[in-house]
Amino acid sequence: MDTKILSTTSENIKLCAKAVKNGELVAFPTETVYGLGANALDATAAEKIYAAKGRPSDNPLIVHVASMNEVSAVVEKIPPIAVKLAAAFMPGPLTLVMKKKPCVPDTVTGGLDTVAVRIPKSSTALSLIRAAGVPICAPSANLSGRPSPTTARHVYNDLYGKIPYILDGGACKIGIESTVLDLTSDKPRLLRPGGLSPEKLREVAGEIEIVQSGKVALCPGMKYKHYAPKAEVLFSAYYENMAQSICDWYDRLSQSGKNPVILCLSQNAEKYGDRATLKVGRTYEDYAHNLFADLRLADDRCHGVVIAEGVEDGGIGSSLINRLVKSSGGRII
Ligand code: AMP
Ligand code: MG
Repeated sequence: MDTKILSTTSENIKLCAKAVKNGELVAFPTETVYGLGANALDATAAEKIYAAKGRPSDNPLIVHVASMNEVSAVVEKIPPIAVKLAAAFMPGPLTLVMKKKPCVPDTVTGGLDTVAVRIPKSSTALSLIRAAGVPICAPSANLSGRPSPTTARHVYNDLYGKIPYILDGGACKIGIESTVLDLTSDKPRLLRPGGLSPEKLREVAGEIEIVQSGKVALCPGMKYKHYAPKAEVLFSAYYENMAQSICDWYDRLSQSGKNPVILCLSQNAEKYGDRATLKVGRTYEDYAHNLFADLRLADDRCHGVVIAEGVEDGGIGSSLINRLVKSSGGRII
């Protein structure tokens, strides 16, 4: 199969919407990362997503809709807290897990009786969903285990020959995935930190339970390898003098021929002298925006090891820590 990268003209969006309706896969931009979409009400179409990505079949997909009205088409009963959260944060990088309606196939939910729903903010994503006239289930459009794609080129490099169309909406604004919040237990449970911070969530949802990464796999996707480039990733803990320890690791790895690179905030680059660095920008938002792209860039430049600077917990920092702990497979220095 040939894979075409398409600009986001209304004709191309119509073409892709038709493909979705016909049971084909389309990769599309969202404000978080690129999604690999299929008709969420068509089990055969959803199965193609797992096959294209090499995704384990018990790792459920997020269902994307364009409005709260459409949420009720896939969710049995919308709890009042979901209405409050939606008013505050949807469209946006928040995914809510609720009891599913029978029309949502088991393939989409990994056999669970719940469904994860999100309204993306990206205008291209919303136009595609509206034109398709069906909810679109979509995980990130990468090969399973690889860093999530934040440009159409990343999707192309992972999925060439496996899908017909990629809508190219440029680089994703946020760069890491949505925050996943489970509303099916007494207290809302944060299953995955993401584009929306726990602090902002608490302002509206009140108390939320944070499910610690690395503990029991409450979010089905938690137990799988994630966000890993070909290079080995070492993730530094955050502390005052981390640059010194990062330099020591770099020098040892360099001497053993590993061609390391340091992922760092631009303002910290001078601390690393003439060692190879990839600058992620000045803020933690920049770090999130560039993280996955830079992990892929490190592979393109044949670095054997990426040493990623630690960040302070809180805000988008918690999501960065979650992604980097997983990218590194828990190799914290
Ligand atoms: P991805 O878009 O590739 O990041 O994958 C979707 C994420 O949403 C995975 O981490 C899933 O485990 C999570 N997810 C999807 N559906 C559910 C659900 N019904 N319950 C809990 N987590 C879910
Ligand atoms: Mg993913």
